[in-house]
Amino acid sequence: MKTIIEIRFNTSNIPGGADTILSLAQCGNDVAKKTEYEINSFFEKRMSSRVELTLDNNDERVAKVLALAATYGIEPLVDRHDVYTEDELQSAPLLVLRPWWNRQLGGGRLYGTTYDLSKACPRCASGVRQSSTMIVDSEGLRRIENARIAATYDEEILLHDVDVERLLAAGVTGASFWPVQAKTKGGKISELRRQQMFVEYVMPPMAPSSLLNRTKLCPMCHRSGFMHLSDQPLRYMYRREDLANIQDVNATWEQFSELSDLPEDLNKARWPEANVLITPKVMNLLRGKTKKEAKNQGCDFIPIWIEDEKP
Ligand SMILES: [Zn+2]
Repeated sequence: MKTIIEIRFNTSNIPGGADTILSLAQCGNDVAKKTEYEINSFFEKRMSSRVELTLDNNDERVAKVLALAATYGIEPLVDRHDVYTEDELQSAPLLVLRPWWNRQLGGGRLYGTTYDLSKACPRCASGVRQSSTMIVDSEGLRRIENARIAATYDEEILLHDVDVERLLAAGVTGASFWPVQAKTKGGKISELRRQQMFVEYVMPPMAPSSLLNRTKLCPMCHRSGFMHLSDQPLRYMYRREDLANIQDVNATWEQFSELSDLPEDLNKARWPEANVLITPKVMNLLRGKTKKEAKNQGCDFIPIWIEDEKP
């Protein structure tokens, strides 16, 4: 496993531009991508420039670049992600299924799917239960049509019928599958060749060492409002004993998404969602077999970490 860091910042106010920092930090074109672009708005028309660096997080040039940027008063955008080897993916106890396009497909309440809020948290709706078939926006389907694994706006996972058949034939545990319908603007309903994956088993809460933002948890249930840290890789940390009852498909106890402002009506608020954790067996069944299929995978698989054990 290695951690990659991406550093992006605007270079138009640096005397000498990006090269000033890049040469001092000894970063060549192999790690830096410079872009010039035109700002053409009602208020101004001028050229601007930015640079994007991709480095190993352990590279000593990272600290140099960040320090140099700071001397010019620049706060770069920093993004870190872990890259795992195939062996590490295959030996992980569980992997996070992270959809790529989770804000592309409307579905749920606005389209006629019904929910039972009777056992949900009255502040954030965690614990809400879907009580009818998932109905999605037929327009939005265009944006995800190539994705093998797709997610609705609320991160409900949709799989192709063929993949569901593969999972069922392999006796995968912890999930059931419901049909999905699409609704056009005119109200016409049609059945999709995708199914919604319902996760039945909920994990124990993660270990505190998980890289999560816990500053805005729901004040009533303390179970929702978890967020990822934008400048840190996604790392869910569990204790070895948390894995005692895992299934092939599992949901995190933690409910993600920013807590809505106090809504007058819970039905109009944004609801939180769990993330899905799967075994390598499920990953292998869902993974694209060809290059083209892999390109349209629609999700990443990121190993969970076990406390005090290296992945
Ligand atoms: Zn709550």
